[in-house]
Amino acid sequence: MKRIFPRLAGWLIMAASALCAEAQAPAPPMPGPIPNEATAATREVNRAQLAGLSQTDQQDFEAAQRGLIEATPDLTIPGPSGTPAFTLKGYEFLANKQAPDTVNPALWRHARLNMASGLFKVTERVYQVRGHDMSNITIVEGDTGLIVTDSLTTTETARAAMALYFKHRPQRPVVALIYSHSHIDHFGGARGVISGEDVAAGKVQVIAPAGFMQEALSENVIAGNAMSRRAMYQFGLVLPRGERGMVDAGLGKPGVNGTISLIPPTVAVEKPLETRRIDGVDIVFELTPGAEAPAEMIMYYPQFRVLNMAEITTQGMHNLLPMRGALVRNALAWSKYIGGALQRYGTVSDVLIAQHNWPVWDGERIRDFLKKQRDTYKFLHDQTVRLLNHGYVAGEIAEIIKMPPALAQDMSTRAFYGDLKNNIKAVYQRYLGYYDGNPINLEALPPVPAALKTVEYMGGADAVLKRAREDYAKGDYRWVAQVTSQLVFADPSNRAARELAADAYEQIGYQQESATARNAFLEGALELRNGLPKLPSYSAAAPDVIRAMPLDMYFDYLGVRLDGDKALGKILVVNWQLTDTRQNYVLNLENSALTYIADSQAPNADVTLIMTRDTLDEISLRKTTFPAALQAGQIVVTGRREKLAELMGMFDTFTLGFPMIEPRPALHAGD
Ligand SMILES: [Zn+2]
Repeated sequence: MKRIFPRLAGWLIMAASALCAEAQAPAPPMPGPIPNEATAATREVNRAQLAGLSQTDQQDFEAAQRGLIEATPDLTIPGPSGTPAFTLKGYEFLANKQAPDTVNPALWRHARLNMASGLFKVTERVYQVRGHDMSNITIVEGDTGLIVTDSLTTTETARAAMALYFKHRPQRPVVALIYSHSHIDHFGGARGVISGEDVAAGKVQVIAPAGFMQEALSENVIAGNAMSRRAMYQFGLVLPRGERGMVDAGLGKPGVNGTISLIPPTVAVEKPLETRRIDGVDIVFELTPGAEAPAEMIMYYPQFRVLNMAEITTQGMHNLLPMRGALVRNALAWSKYIGGALQRYGTVSDVLIAQHNWPVWDGERIRDFLKKQRDTYKFLHDQTVRLLNHGYVAGEIAEIIKMPPALAQDMSTRAFYGDLKNNIKAVYQRYLGYYDGNPINLEALPPVPAALKTVEYMGGADAVLKRAREDYAKGDYRWVAQVTSQLVFADPSNRAARELAADAYEQIGYQQESATARNAFLEGALELRNGLPKLPSYSAAAPDVIRAMPLDMYFDYLGVRLDGDKALGKILVVNWQLTDTRQNYVLNLENSALTYIADSQAPNADVTLIMTRDTLDEISLRKTTFPAALQAGQIVVTGRREKLAELMGMFDTFTLGFPMIEPRPALHAGD
């Protein structure tokens, strides 16, 4: 099963930025049953969708190709140990204009557009490399050197993108690297663009929005393991590429591997709106926190009449809550940022670029695009809140709201990355939370006991299956998936139930317009058929990320690893002294809760640990272990050593391969 793991890399990288740095090669197609064809019902749904699409609409295809200097359709970027960091191989089937019955035709069109790969001239002195990663790199030519915005996900993809640029343009030094926001697909390749030495020597500025480091480091730490696993569904990381599998991820092609890096910013953009001149280029920076990312900024280049919307706009509706899990985003603020950009730059821009997908050209189209993006998030927000104020709950609102025709028919606001229903539920969650107000949902049975009772009341699994098959034949896949999922939770060894559930998940997946929803359903189908993929419990961490992590974050994470049962009744006080960074911490365990006090030492500590931050990092990076470091004298312990051993025995390790579509094992079974 080892060969299943490699495709993960992309998301190991995307989600668990703090935890995972290295990844492996794309996997060969999964073993197990071959996916089904589209059923008659799915064909009908997808053909009806096709009827709603304009067949003559070439505008986006032209926009995606405009300014092309060199196309790289067969791109494969080598990764560490000879495995590709990124490859477009396996997507040849997307050359067909005609959508197959197994892919929503609007998504098919979008997946084809995201195949544009190469170096593009945006305008005089502004270039982009696209299709070398899931995200784009933007290169602005200053008076003496280059101003690069975003460094892709890994050093390998970033280096390849820069090499393509230098193949066609003069070899000039990078004088500034700008991180548009705190997501790893926009900074992970920093060392592929610049070197830490040049930054230290003052030759390169690294510019980022206020709060960048904190957010870049923290988003995927506390819940990182669960996010990584859930991201496998969002990005379909073990799905084989093909008409019945992976076609796209909305923002671009997923599956980026390689080496993650992070060079801390030297300049923080703190004001909501400020203009800086960098190497002769004026850049208006405008902060947009709390929307697509907790720390983000858009940029306007007045000399070139270019607007860079970072990831605040994409070609399609974005996520208010990614399926991997995250703190829910603010649709209202998001809409306002786009409205502000329209107001300030709508009449002074000739081209709108972003750090994903392709540009929007010409003033009128830019204004139309920004208006529709603005109104998409506003409409979603306002209508959801209106309906929740009428008392409807999330699942009901998601069925009621239909985007107005002007937005629904516009490809630039369709949900190719986000998912409309999921976004509506996200707005509900932001204001009201998971609880829908019906008290039983404070005390509802969890999945397995609820499924057992339901199946029993329904007359047993065979009776349920019989009726579910009848509904499947009618194309009622949502209900069939829902009820057969209950059968699987009642009895995960029920092969017939798993197969019917997989068949239903798959047809739902084939009908989805959202790439991420499609990926989720197809991944679910795959696991229903083949069982859990075997996944490693740990992947090498990114040294830059570990070294930059504040100690508070380290101890916060240690806290969530504490097994409350093992800690029952234990009281323990540990002094930590980091000699090189001169940091002192007191770690306090009582009531099964681990707390800490910074800049302090307890006189009554059970044990004192003295080490360097370097040693702590080496342990985090798994270059050494705690006992080995002790033995080597890298850690000095005074006081009651046995107390330390006791504490170390209370921490959980997390495994990535936990079940998603079937019962979770009893706690500790996998320890
Ligand atoms: Zn991104």
